[in-house]
Amino acid sequence: MTARIIDGKALAARVRDGITSEVAALAEHGVVPGLAAVIVGDDPASKVYVGMKHRASAAVGMYSRQAELPADTTQEDLERVVADLNTDDEIDGILVQLPLPDHLDPQRVQELIDPAKDVDALNPYTAGRLAIGDPTFLSCTPYGVLLLLEEAGVDTTGARVTIVGRSNLVGRPLANMLTLKGRDATVTIAHSRTTDLAAVCREADVVVAAAGRQGLVTADMVAPGATVIDVGTNRAEDGSLVGDVDFDAVSEVAGAITPVPGGVGPMTVTMLLQNTLEAARRRRGPAEGA
Ligand code: NAP
Repeated sequence: MTARIIDGKALAARVRDGITSEVAALAEHGVVPGLAAVIVGDDPASKVYVGMKHRASAAVGMYSRQAELPADTTQEDLERVVADLNTDDEIDGILVQLPLPDHLDPQRVQELIDPAKDVDALNPYTAGRLAIGDPTFLSCTPYGVLLLLEEAGVDTTGARVTIVGRSNLVGRPLANMLTLKGRDATVTIAHSRTTDLAAVCREADVVVAAAGRQGLVTADMVAPGATVIDVGTNRAEDGSLVGDVDFDAVSEVAGAITPVPGGVGPMTVTMLLQNTLEAARRRRGPAEGA
């Protein structure tokens, strides 16, 4: 069997086209969705990510602002920047780029983001709302995985899904999303202490790899015809970007698979834009039917 490639780049482009139209429609009501990114220090990867988000929001017609703070910013100063953005009416979505320098407390900062502007969905309040089955915003990477599964034609109702990874960024929120009423998957969360990971993956209709370990998911771990979503992003020895899945071998067994790059990655930024649009609509959009 040769798996169908689930093209995240093409799907992201289609979703962004839809967002562009909806941003234009909101602009007719005088509302331009605004996204603020806070970045502390000079981490090159963080700068690349924030630059990407900035360009992506500009491309769909949103307003985007970057608060660039020096590496020695104090917790108090960082919290003041977030507090100011919370009350800034032009700003609908706030993200604090992680990782922060070691002397800063990321959890405390995430907690301060107004839940109405928490488009990265990392505030414990937002995560808790999802966990009790009443989500406000869906965190961007797992939200993108949901759309990729829809794109692959996977009906998650009753499907067995194994997620490899239990982080608050990917694994846990994805499990909570897939077990929402209406999605109705049966989810197993695997992690580094899981016994016989291969068997746990083999029994799944869908395997989502989000461990950050190159080559972790091999062909013998995947049931014939299963759908495989590779969230992992790792640097191979030759410097290229690779996922957690042994792509060539697993493609011979799986029914559908996402590539790296070009799978989950483009969807993550797209869902950030989607959440920012949604935040603007909720905060400032025209009343229903207007
Ligand atoms: P993380 O916080 O490091 O979590 C990794 C998870 O994988 C942990 O739960 C860990 O288990 C588990 N794990 C590690 N090695 C394992 C093994 N050998 N077997 C089974 N489980 C194992 O990472 P993350 O932030 O969730 O990110 C995961 C990967 O996704 C990374 O490669 C990251 O770069 C990528 N990512 C990509 C995007 C994108 O947009 N494409 C977005 C976010 C993340 P323990 O809990 O037991 O330690």
